[in-house]
Amino acid sequence: MIPLTRNDNRRSRIVGEILEFCRGPENTLRTAQADRAWAEPLVGFSRGDDPLYEAYKEYVGPFHWTPVEIFRRTFPDSDAEASELTVISWVLPQTSQTKHDNRNQKVYPAESWARSRIYGEAFNCRLREHVVITLSDLGHESVAPHLSPAWETTALSDYGYASTWSERHAAYASGLGTFGLCDGLITPRGKAVRVGSVVARVQLPTTPRLYDGHQEFCLFMAEGTCGQCMDRCPVGAITETGHDKETCERHLSRTREFVRKEYGFEGYGCGLCQTGVPCESARPIGAHQ
Ligand code: SF4
Ligand code: SF4
Repeated sequence: MIPLTRNDNRRSRIVGEILEFCRGPENTLRTAQADRAWAEPLVGFSRGDDPLYEAYKEYVGPFHWTPVEIFRRTFPDSDAEASELTVISWVLPQTSQTKHDNRNQKVYPAESWARSRIYGEAFNCRLREHVVITLSDLGHESVAPHLSPAWETTALSDYGYASTWSERHAAYASGLGTFGLCDGLITPRGKAVRVGSVVARVQLPTTPRLYDGHQEFCLFMAEGTCGQCMDRCPVGAITETGHDKETCERHLSRTREFVRKEYGFEGYGCGLCQTGVPCESARPIGAHQ
């Protein structure tokens, strides 16, 4: 047996904390029955100096932070180098019940889906904070880029809607999945997921990326088949050329009134292209692991 190194132990501790937090009472859709928001998470790790993060300045936009950029912005006195950082990324899969509910929708989200978008994401933010606290207890500075006061969504014409830190791109770099025609991340638990991440000054073993291309698990991109997410989208935001973010965003805005009137809370969501499709709950192709 190969003995565990100190860093292997730290990695295991971080994974254990994430799993445990997701089993706790805060993981709820805030229904009367306190239904769970998320099923068991997946966790991946990538190096802070992984060349992919520099490449995202071209593929996402020049405004997208590298891990060392957001780290130094958070800790201005730090002398941390990119090679000393690790990105810890996680996937929160929707529950079977929420996926079942949303599969039946044709235009607007199921209540459970809309709740996951608001209360499930609030839990995701708490998880980000919990991972930062865990790392602090272990003696490591860290930041959840999504929670940084400097985090913002841009609407630059050349790039459409994009943010200064893309959780899905961090997850891709961290071995957790590849992109589908609809832009969603197809993970080993499928595409009906949300993701989160933290950048930490600690060197940890990384998760292998068991894929060569960024759209390898999508049936349409790999084989020219499927395309079911196009049919699921109620506003034609997905075509053979990809995902039209502006059309999608307009529909998401419209769902606010529906959620308020039908479900009685301030929320929104859609996710129709993430449910009722072959990549909903598993990778439909390329299952190497
Ligand atoms: S539904 Fe089909 S075409 Fe759309 S992302 Fe999933 S595998 Fe690709
Ligand atoms: S692309 Fe946007 S509007 Fe279309 S189904 Fe997906 S989330 Fe809904």
